[in-house]
Amino acid sequence: MPSRARLIRTLLLAALLVPALTGPRPVAAQDSERVVAIAAELAGGAAGTKLTITLSKPVEARAFVMERPDRAVIDLPEVNFQLGPEAGRRREGLVQSFRYGLFAPGRSRIVVDLAGPASVGAIETVTRPRDGAVLLTIPFQKVEREAFRKAAAASDPAPAPKAVVREAADQRPLVMIDAGHGGTDPGAIAVGGVLEKDIVFGFAQSLVTKLEESGRYRVRMTRDRDVFVPLAERVRLAREAKADLFVSIHADSISSAPQVRGATIYTGSEKATDAESAKLAERENKADAAAGADAGEGPPEITDILQELTLRETRGFSSGFARTLMGQLNPVMEMSTKPHREAGFRVLRSPDVPSVLVELGYLSSKRDLEMLQSPEWRAGVTGSMAKAIELFFANRATLGRPVATARRAAAIAPVSP
Ligand SMILES: [Zn+2]
Repeated sequence: MPSRARLIRTLLLAALLVPALTGPRPVAAQDSERVVAIAAELAGGAAGTKLTITLSKPVEARAFVMERPDRAVIDLPEVNFQLGPEAGRRREGLVQSFRYGLFAPGRSRIVVDLAGPASVGAIETVTRPRDGAVLLTIPFQKVEREAFRKAAAASDPAPAPKAVVREAADQRPLVMIDAGHGGTDPGAIAVGGVLEKDIVFGFAQSLVTKLEESGRYRVRMTRDRDVFVPLAERVRLAREAKADLFVSIHADSISSAPQVRGATIYTGSEKATDAESAKLAERENKADAAAGADAGEGPPEITDILQELTLRETRGFSSGFARTLMGQLNPVMEMSTKPHREAGFRVLRSPDVPSVLVELGYLSSKRDLEMLQSPEWRAGVTGSMAKAIELFFANRATLGRPVATARRAAAIAPVSP
């Protein structure tokens, strides 16, 4: 076999020397330490879809699923992904797109965005006789939402030996992205029939992808599809997940003033900055009623001094983030005349999760609407938002304040006099 090994090595060398090579690449040398992935194929349909990765040698793969948004995660040992730039953007059946990369030293991960609830079947490894390449096939089968939810919940506490690794990974800050409205609640409606719920959902998905790609955060969404989620439930989801930051995405509309343009960042307060902000909060707070749901309960009652302090500290962080965000967004997008305002939004009422609400622009402005629908604009703005989030957490770290301080304070029972 020496001549065959030499041939393979020559081919690998050629691949490394010609980075622009776009066709199928030669398989890496069998004696190489690293595992190289050289191709990815999708096949099948909406009931069952297969993702096949071509590797230079066999690997052990472990899969699990996650909800909000629906994803399948495939953990692998470190893999050098030599796939084309478009590899993960193809869409087929149950697979909406997929991302891959180094997840931790020595560990790579493929994250598959699912078009709907699906289970991962037995992962197969087959060696291709003609060149020794290894085909790793990951099958997805459509399942009911309930079964998927159970599988996602079950895959949360990892088996014992993995628990430590998981625990370490879970130290990353959790960012909760909240796409406004959804389902029976369309939010604002533009003249041409464009709906706020769709605009903000597309934006939120793009932001989630950007944050996940950075590998710095755990990222969740309050809604992962076109579904109605009550305002109080959005707050509950953020608190229950112990989110470190909550970013709500909206787009406003004032049909009587089509000239009004630009983005505004809101933080929560009992007292609104101005009448305009108070009116907007009132409009957004009607989301539950608009969707045909109960108005839900009011804000949690603040009864003791520790909770009061927690709320004050949290609001300080919310305002700090709003200012950072303003600094990052200002150069890349049109801002309103007063870009940071306060008002009593129901969705900003977590006493222990720094929260902001971004009104991206006005659906009633022709120019804003054009921007809101432009993929280039969206890429620029989500990039700047991701940068602001990075600065926010970097700043918290240098302040020496553990991310969960506020929450612990909130959990301490008040001392009786
Ligand atoms: Zn809205």
